[in-house]
Amino acid sequence: MRWLDKRYHSLNYELRKTFGEKIFKLSLDGGFTCPNRDGKIGFKGCIFCSDKGSGEYASDKNLSIKDQIESQINLLKDKWSHGKYIAYFQNFTNTYAPVDILRKKYEDAISCKNVVGLAIATRADCLDDNVIDLLEELSKKTYLWVEIGIQTIHDKSGKFLRRGYNFSLFEEKVKKLREKNINIITHLIIGIPNETKKMIFESIDKISKMDIQGVKLHLLHIIKGTDLEKYYLESKFKLLEKEEYIHLICDILERLNPNIVIHRMTGDGSKDTLLEPWWSLDKRSVLNAIDKELKKRNSYQGKYFKS
Ligand code: SF4
Repeated sequence: MRWLDKRYHSLNYELRKTFGEKIFKLSLDGGFTCPNRDGKIGFKGCIFCSDKGSGEYASDKNLSIKDQIESQINLLKDKWSHGKYIAYFQNFTNTYAPVDILRKKYEDAISCKNVVGLAIATRADCLDDNVIDLLEELSKKTYLWVEIGIQTIHDKSGKFLRRGYNFSLFEEKVKKLREKNINIITHLIIGIPNETKKMIFESIDKISKMDIQGVKLHLLHIIKGTDLEKYYLESKFKLLEKEEYIHLICDILERLNPNIVIHRMTGDGSKDTLLEPWWSLDKRSVLNAIDKELKKRNSYQGKYFKS
């Protein structure tokens, strides 16, 4: 198969191709906040966002970056004693600080032993020219990607999610980042209330034609304590069933540009914080079912992609 054992362009495949071995991500908390939470744009945040800033598995923000990396590596040590790592600044908005503070945190991360790359999650409205220049500088020193959670290309849905900016801003920043050769991973949420299948496919088709290097496909799930939980309990909108999601993901993969690396295809809730859907906790079973369905269809990522 084109991507080793998978019918889609997996991150594992891509990292092995690049580094010649398995690479692990270390989830870090850089101690940032988010303009969608501190009042610059809004106080309530995105409707699905928890008080952890969409980084449920990140390390302890009270530790220095170097200590977070060391403690995360220690957790992996029993299974992988000689791993290589990507330092992943995950929760809240990891470019939302003055450039000298950002530079120090990122440099601390990439100076750690066996850290071979940097992943930075942020928002399109927190990428001014100075930040982009810094990212360009870093991309010349290490393997780097920037993650932007656009979630949908539809501004109506973006408003429902309280994203806080329009898709056109994302397009503008993608162009600027790519002019500097910076790799971009975008997040899309599958199952947003009132989004039809047609709308989901429009997001996939649009992203497929942009100069974007990777995607995280998230099942919409409800985290306890979020405003989405309140909305769900009041409106009882329909969440995707497991079978429905698996079929939809296979349809999505068939349309998606085969050059785009798949970083995620499931929900990421933990059993302590997830309200629904519970089937998403068994990630292995979801991924296996996607493999099985693609095989049954004799299909693969990009089968119906038209450039
Ligand atoms: S941009 Fe990220 S951290 Fe900020 S509110 Fe939205 S999901 Fe939460």
